Amino acid sequence: MTIAFTHLDRIYIDGAWHAPGGGSDPVINPATEATFAHAPVANVDQVDTAIAAAREAFDNGPWPRMSMNERADVMADMARALRARQSQIAELIIAEVGCAQPITHGMQVDNPIRLLEAAIGHARRDEPERLPITITPNAFAPDGPQAIGGTTVVREPFGVVSAITGYNFPFLLNLAKIGPALLAGCTMVLKPSPFTPFSALLFGEIAEEIGLPKGVLNIVTGGIEEGQLLCTDERVDMITFTGSETVGASIMAQAAPTLKKVHLELGGKSAMIVREDADVQRAAGMAAMMLSVNAGQGCAIPTRHLVHNSLRPAFAATVAAIAGQLKIGDPADPSVAMGPLIRESQRAKVEHYIKLGHDAGATLLCGGKRPDGLDKGYFTELTFFDDVTNDMQIAQDEIFGPVGCIIGFDTDEEAIRIANDSRYGLNGAVETADAAKGYEMALQIRAGSVALNGGTGMMSDAPIGGYKRSGIGREYGPHWIREYQHEKSVFYPIGK
Ligand code: NAD
Repeated sequence: MTIAFTHLDRIYIDGAWHAPGGGSDPVINPATEATFAHAPVANVDQVDTAIAAAREAFDNGPWPRMSMNERADVMADMARALRARQSQIAELIIAEVGCAQPITHGMQVDNPIRLLEAAIGHARRDEPERLPITITPNAFAPDGPQAIGGTTVVREPFGVVSAITGYNFPFLLNLAKIGPALLAGCTMVLKPSPFTPFSALLFGEIAEEIGLPKGVLNIVTGGIEEGQLLCTDERVDMITFTGSETVGASIMAQAAPTLKKVHLELGGKSAMIVREDADVQRAAGMAAMMLSVNAGQGCAIPTRHLVHNSLRPAFAATVAAIAGQLKIGDPADPSVAMGPLIRESQRAKVEHYIKLGHDAGATLLCGGKRPDGLDKGYFTELTFFDDVTNDMQIAQDEIFGPVGCIIGFDTDEEAIRIANDSRYGLNGAVETADAAKGYEMALQIRAGSVALNGGTGMMSDAPIGGYKRSGIGREYGPHWIREYQHEKSVFYPIGK
């Protein structure tokens, strides 16, 4: 079977394709464990060259000097080119990530392109801001004539950006860096996860097709050493990273000596609160379906289910029934609802946490093992534990697999306290018949987003990001490009 983009055997630097200095690596389909392609691996010298290209394109190239509308026109070409390849991108993600088809087509491919289109619209409206005229005292002679003047705040591209991304929603994560950074006028070196190289390299094809000036977008591959150079090199102004909390902390440390701006989108352990008055069937259905998304490998998926004790038996019965019916398998089959985990190491981690749950005294409701009849592929069952207490490790750590923790509560205050008793703060949910009360509770949850009664159903064009150890900064929404801009205030006098 030929999968789109897997013919890309070179890396993309300074507007040209280069043979990889680090050879090639097999790329494995996690549903079959078969190598479906070999991906080029960059070495540190090539990352160095890519940074030089991005620096030159920023300091002397046309891109940062173009108007916002001119850049938006080019990025609109990018959006069109991506739309034209939507089905091939989906096919690639199914092979690279093993994500089920309905989720892939909607959340992994269509939604990211929609968000880029929205960002282009916002960018076109990004005007300099004129602050009101002010009268200020004479700093040097208190009794002298006062000064009158105004300020215009202009926004300028931040500079050379290193973008480093994880594997779980690879096309989304890459586009979430490329879109706003390039619209803002920055130049970039992008390094994807070694598990999902093609979801990044494909942007080289797009850059060529739309005539992006050379050096504006460079795509390298590789592992930790290559990532480290992107975080330490003097010529890089900013790092934008999506990945785990641990690597995020390393990235901050690596960036510190050269004081780079660091934008981090990290992990989560989000809580869904199911109040006493909630529609328990609906809430349980949503909890199970969300946990199955990409086999639980989603940063914002609620994985702690805080359920009012009066509803807990009904909630538990419903999630277990849904889990029992969920079709797990190779997502090449369109009827499959949940695919595998990315690699054996991730499955081992999930199985380790399932054991920790047992050992801590939680009750296994459903799942907890490898599905029968699937001998190849890194599959695991949709798993729920009941009788979890929030101090258990399964309730505190990000497992990044389909493992849900049901935690009982008796009052709203207790629910909020448990929800906030986490080092993460990425997302949250409240299910209740009293929407106004739910809104008040949403305000008390320390997280970057909260879905009240299912919210909009999809991520709307809203800012998303973390409190606490879930990250620093925001992605998406009307001010998305601001992460990639400097603000400059120009003060001017009146009457001189
Ligand atoms: P990871 O942190 O293991 O790796 C991410 C990237 O960092 C990879 O490209 C890797 O090669 C690189 N890297 C590793 N060490 C590095 C170093 N020292 N310096 C520079 N680069 C280095 O993440 P992952 O397992 O691929 O992704 C899953 C994680 O991502 C989960 O924790 C998940 O919650 C998080 N995530 C967050 C969001 C969000 O928006 N908040 C979205 C998706 C995923």
